[in-house]
Amino acid sequence: MAGIAGPEIERLIQLLARLPGLGPRSARRAALHLIRKREELLGPLADAMRVARERIVTCSVCGNIDTKNPCSLCSDPRRDDSTLVVVETVGDLWALERASVLNARYHVLGGALSPLDGVGPDDLNIAALIGRVAAGGVKEVILAVNATVDGQTTAHYITELLSPYGAKCTRLAHGVPVGGELDYLDEGTLAAAMKSRTDL
Ligand code: ZN
Repeated sequence: MAGIAGPEIERLIQLLARLPGLGPRSARRAALHLIRKREELLGPLADAMRVARERIVTCSVCGNIDTKNPCSLCSDPRRDDSTLVVVETVGDLWALERASVLNARYHVLGGALSPLDGVGPDDLNIAALIGRVAAGGVKEVILAVNATVDGQTTAHYITELLSPYGAKCTRLAHGVPVGGELDYLDEGTLAAAMKSRTDL
């Protein structure tokens, strides 16, 4: 379809349409909204994007993203060095931080092992993880990976690799979500919940 709005605005719409969760229609709506709110929204957004492009780096210690290296989490002296939470992605790290249950250190793998997709150990940030644990001081490694086949394969692989270093490896519980009704759960989740039942 030929551009209705002129090539520059069409380009803005096309770029917005590449964002996750935005189709062509909502991209058009978002573009229009940004253009209408040029001063309050479009300007600050453009500035924030420029900062992101120029200053955001991957932390060389943990694989998180930040504007400094080591990242804010790695350089925070109040964090507990003895607990290391291993996640697949930065999005998972953010999710756990939002839950704010632990004041631990993190390690971002950059994905999960997946023989079918050709993702092997060398494609992930695993060697650096082993290095961190081997350096000493880590008592527990929490494998907060996804409850998928790939996630669990990755957890087992890392547990094997870490076995010589004396750190305890744990994983997240699988089961009934908070507020969940049994009737709505799939059989796999129910079976996992039943297996990992705890004392009251
Ligand atoms: Zn870091």
